[in-house]
Amino acid sequence: MRIILFGPPGVGKGTQAKLLSEEFSVPHISTGDLLRAAVKNQSTLGKKAQEYMDAGNLVPDDVMIGLIREILSSPKAKRGFILDGFPRTVPQAQALDTMLSGLGLKLDGVISLRVEHEEVIKRLSGRKMCRTCGRIYSTQQLEIIDMPTKCQDCGGELFQREDDDAETVRHRLEVYVKETKPLKDFYRETGRFIQIDGMLEVPFVHKTILDIVYKSRNGKD
Ligand code: AMP
Repeated sequence: MRIILFGPPGVGKGTQAKLLSEEFSVPHISTGDLLRAAVKNQSTLGKKAQEYMDAGNLVPDDVMIGLIREILSSPKAKRGFILDGFPRTVPQAQALDTMLSGLGLKLDGVISLRVEHEEVIKRLSGRKMCRTCGRIYSTQQLEIIDMPTKCQDCGGELFQREDDDAETVRHRLEVYVKETKPLKDFYRETGRFIQIDGMLEVPFVHKTILDIVYKSRNGKD
């Protein structure tokens, strides 16, 4: 299974990717998570990426394409993947196509989650992340568990991502519209694109995605 989850920041790609990764036992590859880990370790990649990320800008294509090339050619991605946050530009999508065809592999589909931009701003500026394990807590979850300061899974400190303040979120949305949204046409032209409603509750979105995946699998059988 090789799927791209597509959509603006804050639409729930990470949450859905994690569920799909568990369901189909394929790795969830989040370029945002990989970059944040690199920044934390202050690796060469992290040092290159940090400034762009903090400002809500895209990390240059050559850096991102190099990173994905390394992952796709590793044993980790052999059984498939759920890509979250890549590709984000047309050159990244073209490079991914070239890499996959070079490996003799095909994308099963691009699933786009649609959400109102005002909802994105509300979701992102309220969410928190665990500094240790990376778990994301939505505003709603934080209210239900009475505003915890520590992660329920690992006890790590919860914090607001540097790029989740309202002003940077607005900028990230502008970057999405300018650089990433044009990819919809790129994938529509190849017939691999399906758009679904990302405003629904997490389990409903998950079920919609599963229905699409199983339907396309049965179609192939
Ligand atoms: P995310 O967690 O997917 O919202 O990504 C956080 C940040 O990482 C983005 O705002 C970008 O600065 C950077 N980033 C992640 N994926 C990419 C990509 N495919 N191309 C360029 N920058 C990226």
